[in-house]
Amino acid sequence: MGNILKQKERGSLVIISGPSGAGKDTVVSGYIKKHKNAWVSISCTSRDMRPGDKEGRDYYFISKEEFERKIEAGDFLEYALYNGNYYGTPKEHIEEHLQSGEDVILVIEVQGALKVKEIVPEAICIFIMPPSMKELRKRLVGRKTETKDKILSRFKRAYQEINEVANYNYVVINDEVKNAVEKMSAILLSEKCRVDRIEAVFLDNAEEEIHELLMDQEFDNSEITLEKE
Ligand code: ADP
Ligand code: 5GP
Repeated sequence: MGNILKQKERGSLVIISGPSGAGKDTVVSGYIKKHKNAWVSISCTSRDMRPGDKEGRDYYFISKEEFERKIEAGDFLEYALYNGNYYGTPKEHIEEHLQSGEDVILVIEVQGALKVKEIVPEAICIFIMPPSMKELRKRLVGRKTETKDKILSRFKRAYQEINEVANYNYVVINDEVKNAVEKMSAILLSEKCRVDRIEAVFLDNAEEEIHELLMDQEFDNSEITLEKE
């Protein structure tokens, strides 16, 4: 006599979006430190490397021409143009990680998120929201990775992106990193308890099982007191 339920072992596809500077990478790396059973996909981009960026850790940095060749070859699950540069999620490796039971996390902007949701409707979409636009500006400037022009275009775009929040399943306000990581953990944990992750229920011979369980030697039936109703 074994488990009552067989639940899906396959990992979930998790999409993280939010305006630039909201803290997506910070929250995801906080999550990954606490949860080993997740894998963060590394995107390709045609944007220039920023101070602190590392090839193969933050992105695969490729030229626009190479990116376009990869589009033609069908190498991307999705891709989008953002602030004049291409960003795309390589298809390769996603399926093997999902099959091995790991959650696959894509940190992508809103157009790409909508495309993935069309292909994988069960993807879990989480929007990371800054506590205020003033705080967003502070974080974008404080990161010291971009020129004033780039900060301005990312900040402008943030207003459009925030309007897309209704397309997501969850919103996490990133006030304190610790709180945001806890909320992300709670969301992904509760997603594992969804009833639609049940693949089979093993209770087909109830009569026989009830009899067997009550006749079990280990079952101390002296504890049973019979009361007349
Ligand atoms: P994104 O990936 O959304 O562009 P980052 O993770 O790079 O954002 O964060 C932008 C900046 O804000 C970084 O300098 C990061 O250290 C800082 N940051 C992230 N979350 C918080 C937070 N909760 N409170 C204060 N600063 C934060
Ligand atoms: P950044 O230049 O700040 O690293 O990224 C700019 C935006 O592109 C962020 O919102 C980031 O999440 C998004 N992004 C990163 N990789 C991908 C990707 O593969 N596809 C899409 N659609 N967006 C991405």
